[in-house]
Amino acid sequence: MKEIVLAKYGEMALKGQNKCSFEDILLKNIKFRLKSAGKFRYSSAQSTVYIEPEEDSADLDEVIARLQKVFGIAAICRACVCEKNFDDIQKKTLEYLRETLEDARTFKVEAKRADKKFPMKSPEICMELGGAVCEAFPEISVDVHNPEVTIIVEIRDTNAYIHAGRIKGAGGLPVGSSGKALLLLSGGIDSPVAGYMMAKRGIHISAVHFVSPPYTSDRARLKVEQLCQKLTPYCGDIHFYCVPFTEIQEELRRKCPEEYFTVLMRRLMMLIAQEIAKKEEALALITGESVGQVASQTMQAMVCTDAVCQCPVFRPLIGMDKTEIIEISRKIDTFDISVQPYEDCCTVFTPRHPKIRPQLETVEKAQEKGDFAAMIQKAVEGTELKVFKHADA
Ligand code: ATP
Ligand code: MG
Repeated sequence: MKEIVLAKYGEMALKGQNKCSFEDILLKNIKFRLKSAGKFRYSSAQSTVYIEPEEDSADLDEVIARLQKVFGIAAICRACVCEKNFDDIQKKTLEYLRETLEDARTFKVEAKRADKKFPMKSPEICMELGGAVCEAFPEISVDVHNPEVTIIVEIRDTNAYIHAGRIKGAGGLPVGSSGKALLLLSGGIDSPVAGYMMAKRGIHISAVHFVSPPYTSDRARLKVEQLCQKLTPYCGDIHFYCVPFTEIQEELRRKCPEEYFTVLMRRLMMLIAQEIAKKEEALALITGESVGQVASQTMQAMVCTDAVCQCPVFRPLIGMDKTEIIEISRKIDTFDISVQPYEDCCTVFTPRHPKIRPQLETVEKAQEKGDFAAMIQKAVEGTELKVFKHADA
C-alpha cells in the first residue's frame, strides 16, 4: 500500500493574487526541512502539498514531526493512496486502517469530494464504506457524534486518499513570506518565544546578542547559541550576531546616573541593533518585553527606548502573562535552556534603584554624559556573525 503525507495550508489558502508566492516559499521550506529525512516527490494542488516517499524506508513519523514545526501548514494527514473507484477505496480502508479499527469501539466515515465528477456523492460513500467496515469488524459500531475513529475519504484530482484524521500543524504563514526582522535575543525565557511568534507570522528572523566579557562568560554566550539552534526548526537558518558591549557598559557606569543604567543600556542596544538590521536588510526589531514585567518594561521606559528607534519594534509578548510565555517556551523546548542560571549583560549592571517611570528628556540628558558615538561604531565593527542551520536539526 502506498502512503503519502498531505500538508494542508493554513490561512495562506485565503490569500488572493499572491497565493502563488506563499506557496512557493512554503514548498521551498518543506523541501529544505525534509532534505535529510529521505527522498520525496513533491507537488502542490488544492491548497495542499503532497509529499510522496520515493523509498520504502522513509520514516513518515519523523516527516510528520518535522512538518509540525513548519509555519504555513494548518494540518497534516498521513494517508493511503487509492485509485479513484469505490472498490479500491473500500479494500484499502479495511487493510490500511485494520489495526485502528480493531482497537476502537466506535467510528464514523467522512467523505470530502473535491472532485465533483466522482460518481458517488459524499453521503453515499459514507454509507457504503460504513457498512463495509461494520461487516468486516463486527465489534465496532457507528457513532456520528463522538466517534473514537473518524475515517476520512478525500476524493481529489488524481487519486483518492484515506486516513484516520488530521494532525495539527504549526499554523501561521511560511517563514520568509513577510520579510526579515532582527530579534534581540538574550538567554532568558522571553526573547526566544518572541522570535518564535514573529516567525509564525512569516518573518524570517536574524538574532543579535550583547555580551560583556569578562562580566559575562563564554558559557552564557553558548547558552544563547543553543537557544538559537533550538529555534531553527521553526525559524529556518538564523544569522546570529554577537556584539561586544563591555566598553559601552563601562562608560555608562563611569559617567551616567545609576538609576538610568537599564533604560540607557536598552537605548544603546537599540542603536547598535539598528545598524545590524540595516546590514541584514531587516525592517524591524523584535524584543521579548511584556508591559510591567520588570522596571525597564514600563510604558514610560519603552517610550524612552523607542525614541532612538527609526524602525518599528515588535513586542509580540507585550500583553502576555509570564505563565503563558512559559507555556510556549516549554512547547518549543527552549525553557530548560533558558532557566540555566547564567548571567546576562543586563543583570550584571542592574542599578539598585532603577527609575521606573523615566522621562525622555532626563534620559536624553543622562545619555549625553557618556561618549558613546564612537563606541557604538566600534561595537558594530567588532560584531561576530555565526550562522545556525536548520536542515539537520
Ligand atoms: P528575556 O527573558 O527575553 O531575557 P527579560 O524578562 O529577562 O527577557 P530584560 O532582561 O529586561 O527582560 O530584557 C528585555 C528584552 O531585551 C529581552 O526580551 C531581549 O529582547 C532584550 N535583551 C536583554 N538582554 C539582551 C542581550 N544580552 N542581548 C540581546 N538582547 C537582550
Ligand atoms: Mg533577560
